[in-house]
Amino acid sequence: MIPFNFEYMKVYTIQEAVSLYQHFLLSGKTPMYFGGGTEIITLGRTSSLFTDAVIDINGIPECNILLEREQKLILGSCISLTQSVYQDSFPLLSKTAIEIADQTARNKISLGGNICSNIRFKEGILPFLITDSNVVIANEGGIREIPIKDAFNEEYQLPAGTLLVQLVVDEEYINAPYYAKKIRTIGTVGYPVISINAIKINGRLKIAVSGISLLPIHEETIDNRLNNRQLAYKDRIKEAIDAWPKPIIDDIQGSADYKKYLLEKNLLEIFQKLEVE
Ligand SMILES: Cc1cc2nc3c(=O)[nH]c(=O)nc-3n(C[C@H](O)[C@H](O)[C@H](O)COP(=O)(O)OP(=O)(O)OC[C@H]3O[C@@H](n4cnc5c(N)ncnc54)[C@H](O)[C@@H]3O)c2cc1C
Repeated sequence: MIPFNFEYMKVYTIQEAVSLYQHFLLSGKTPMYFGGGTEIITLGRTSSLFTDAVIDINGIPECNILLEREQKLILGSCISLTQSVYQDSFPLLSKTAIEIADQTARNKISLGGNICSNIRFKEGILPFLITDSNVVIANEGGIREIPIKDAFNEEYQLPAGTLLVQLVVDEEYINAPYYAKKIRTIGTVGYPVISINAIKINGRLKIAVSGISLLPIHEETIDNRLNNRQLAYKDRIKEAIDAWPKPIIDDIQGSADYKKYLLEKNLLEIFQKLEVE
């Protein structure tokens, strides 16, 4: 049972969603957009999350599209992880999404909900970070398409009240050779010890990793180190891990040393599989 009462409103336009969010805010409420609702329900039940005004965005057509237009793939934020798995345009996303949660949960969890989650793993963001994707976001100021890195703050959160409408990926990146691997402590379902995505684009390797630090990591400085052709693979990897931008953490999934070991091992595999120079 959810131990608090909340208002529930379903909206059908982007404008309605952002205006209603502001309206609730000005009325002293704590509004939340509702994608798949799994996080709101599960964290709400344990009182780890509070909202007294839920705005269901699933009726907004722009949030439900999945199409290719002008050499770009456009994915609405309300498409489910199951749809993300079975779309056949962006194989890196399919391979990443199929490892998130279990089939029943994936039917409900929305792509936007995973990316805007308060849970730290956000594995669904990895394919979009390394493909330099854009996002379409909306707030009181209007609707804008901007690079994904500019939309989120350091904690990978959007500013309060901002609605993630769509993710936009360039076809050039979609067709690039890729690698995706998730390693768990045990079994085939659960949060990752590490989850790693990589692509090779224009001869350059780009990587993004979840699980190893508190939040997903994608940094140009790491990519630069991994692409330093003056050094052997092992030395590039050592440099990248030594200069890792955020602490590599111990958690219930695994120790920091174990994570470092897995990172090293998988980076080596990536160099070989993607035939990086
Ligand atoms: C059984 C289970 C297993 C899981 N396993 C994994 C895993 O292996 N890896 C992993 O990364 N995650 C995992 N998760 C976490 C899950 O991906 C997140 O909790 C995700 O937020 C759920 O998506 P949702 O659509 O249900 O979100 P909701 O509950 O609808 O929303 C979650 C948060 O995102 C905000 N939000 C939703 N959509 C938007 C939008 N379009 N614009 C702006 N804000 C928005 C909401 O306001 C809320 O704050 C798991 C969750 C469950 C229930």
